Amino acid sequence: MNKLNKQILITGVIGTLAVISLIIAVFDSDSFFEYVSLILGVVWLLAMGQLLITNYQSHRVLRRIHHSVDKLVNDNDAIPILVRPGDDYKRLADSVNDLIDKKENQDEESNYQASETEKIMNVLPIGVMVIGENKDVIYSNSQMETILSKPIGEEKHLYTDDITNYELLTMIDSVFDKKETQKSEITEVADDPKTTEVQVMYNHINSSFHIIVIAYDITEVINIKQMQIDFLRNASHELKTPVTAISGFAKTLLDGAMEDHDDLAEFLTIIDKQSEQLTSLINDILTISHVQNHESSAVNLIDLASFIDAEFKTQQNQANKLNVSLINEIEPDLQVRMDNNSLQRIARNLISNAIKYNRQGGQVTVNANREGDIWYFKVADTGTGIAQKEIGRIFERFYRTDASRNKQKIAGTGLGLSIVKELVDSLSGKITVESQRGVGTTFTVRLPYVKG
Ligand code: ATP
Ligand code: MG
Repeated sequence: MNKLNKQILITGVIGTLAVISLIIAVFDSDSFFEYVSLILGVVWLLAMGQLLITNYQSHRVLRRIHHSVDKLVNDNDAIPILVRPGDDYKRLADSVNDLIDKKENQDEESNYQASETEKIMNVLPIGVMVIGENKDVIYSNSQMETILSKPIGEEKHLYTDDITNYELLTMIDSVFDKKETQKSEITEVADDPKTTEVQVMYNHINSSFHIIVIAYDITEVINIKQMQIDFLRNASHELKTPVTAISGFAKTLLDGAMEDHDDLAEFLTIIDKQSEQLTSLINDILTISHVQNHESSAVNLIDLASFIDAEFKTQQNQANKLNVSLINEIEPDLQVRMDNNSLQRIARNLISNAIKYNRQGGQVTVNANREGDIWYFKVADTGTGIAQKEIGRIFERFYRTDASRNKQKIAGTGLGLSIVKELVDSLSGKITVESQRGVGTTFTVRLPYVKG
């Protein structure tokens, strides 16, 4: 029996006893019973007061419990209920308090999970936007803002406020109509020349649905594909020229030209030159594939001044043809630690260009020095120079400037500088070029200085 019921019972008993003693006192005119009924009356009044107080307190506790349960049900922050020990509702209040604690823990957990999910969504390289049935944006991640090139507000708004690309809008409309997922490659989703792969998914849940737009920037993939196509096209074209010449002159010789001693010597010289061109082209292509596969040989300690002297020797004949002087200005004690082959390819290509594109009687000067954590070497010539509009393109594979291509007098395939650039990049270095038409060109390569 709870406290309130006990008090009701006791008050009832006292009240009954008081009435009985009052009746006896009235009928018997007994002063003892008068006295007893008076005391019982007073006790009854006190018990009634106590009963009213207990009843009021119980109601107050019940109201607080009701209030807290209401908040729990409606997902608001419920306050724990404080009840005195021995109260009739103590156990109920404790149970409600336990529920409040559990809900708080669950809320914290789900908030943590939501913020973790949010973090993950925002580092994804894929743009995600969720559109509700009423065409409002329910969610979008930061990559979607990058793809659309605009901030996406968190307030309630239509997806047409964020997406303006006609093709994408038509796709989303069509998914709303047909209720079927669609996929497409779209160029210029925002106002920049990027290609984005977009998938608009129809997602049905219970009786409602939403639309998920997933966008991925594939500009780089498309560029790489295009570069591979260009490379194959250019490489086959470049390979075809010497092969056609070799087979053409060999056939002419076999058809009788070899009988003439002068023709024989001339055609064999052409075949020899074209074979050299073919070999150098194949070597260049092989170098590109080695650099791309990050293949490198061991690091050597290189004495730079004598290294460049040796390189000058191999190219002296070429320089003599144009009467170009080769000047080595490197201090004799400068030493660097790096892969010998890579440095040789870089230096050979730059010095070869400096000689090839020089003027009669010009100069090629090589300089090098250390600057803290890096070291640099410069190859300067007094040659034709490169037009400003072409400087940005000379490191592209197979690119040759108008001057060297049109006149067709300087042999080359346009692979040399692209190999140099790839090598320098693979060594975490930088290559820069300064040039003035008719004055000359200076290439500077900066590389990390590896301490011994
Ligand atoms: P390859 O080196 O493959 O035999 P290439 O010399 O034509 O052929 P790159 O070395 O890549 O090719 O150079 C690309 C183009 O840049 C050259 O065709 C030339 O027009 C220009 N160029 C490079 N170096 C110089 C230079 N020192 N002076 C003037 N133009 C240059
Ligand atoms: Mg070259």
